[in-house]
Amino acid sequence: MGRIRLVAGNWKMHGSRKANRELLEALVSGVPQGRGVECTVCVPFPYLGEVAGQLKGTTVTWGAQNVSEHAQGAYTGEVSAAMLAEFACRYVIVGHSERRQLYGESDAQVAAKFTAAKAAGMTPILCVGETLQERDAGRTEDVVARQLGAVKFDGGVLAYEPVWAIGTGRTATPEQAQQVHAFLRGRVGPGTAIIYGGSVKPQNAGAIFAMPDVDGGLIGGASLVAKDFLDIVKAAAK
Ligand code: PEP
Repeated sequence: MGRIRLVAGNWKMHGSRKANRELLEALVSGVPQGRGVECTVCVPFPYLGEVAGQLKGTTVTWGAQNVSEHAQGAYTGEVSAAMLAEFACRYVIVGHSERRQLYGESDAQVAAKFTAAKAAGMTPILCVGETLQERDAGRTEDVVARQLGAVKFDGGVLAYEPVWAIGTGRTATPEQAQQVHAFLRGRVGPGTAIIYGGSVKPQNAGAIFAMPDVDGGLIGGASLVAKDFLDIVKAAAK
């Protein structure tokens, strides 16, 4: 009982209107019902209208991969939380390592994005995670504590995503994931869903989701393949 189990697909910059339609048709008909797991897809901004139209009234929810920290104004190329809320996004990923690394997002900026998403009525999925260098230096807990501590974390989902495991095919072992999740659990309490991300596949999902403080997954590559994503969702079901 208590917190949700969540499997979230992060499509990143992939998709087409045709491919999306086919993928979502398969998800809607294949997702397990009444088994205590929520399946959501975080899609590129231009697809939100069509995705919302296709998923409305189904049990599959949707969200975005990023949001501006600003409410409105002269911020060319940015998308506000109020705009996302108009498309009934339930979730917004904030602080993904690709945003932090490739676009220089700071802890403070991620914190402002978290607050903006919350204020617009959405649930932010806050990503935290260490690089390989930081892990090797024994700094994993320091890094995730700093990233989490920067945010006024309240009412969000937390995603532990070791940077060295994202898109690399190299997964944290279930024990490595559990160790960090237990540390994070100590910070956010029993009611917060803490999901794991980093090369989750149908083959390793069951063992990772069986860990006591792992409440589901944030899935990149495998979320683009309907059968793989559905198998991962099923692995999280009770
Ligand atoms: C991600 O994009 O958050 C992710 C975990 O990617 P992948 O599953 O491809 O490693």
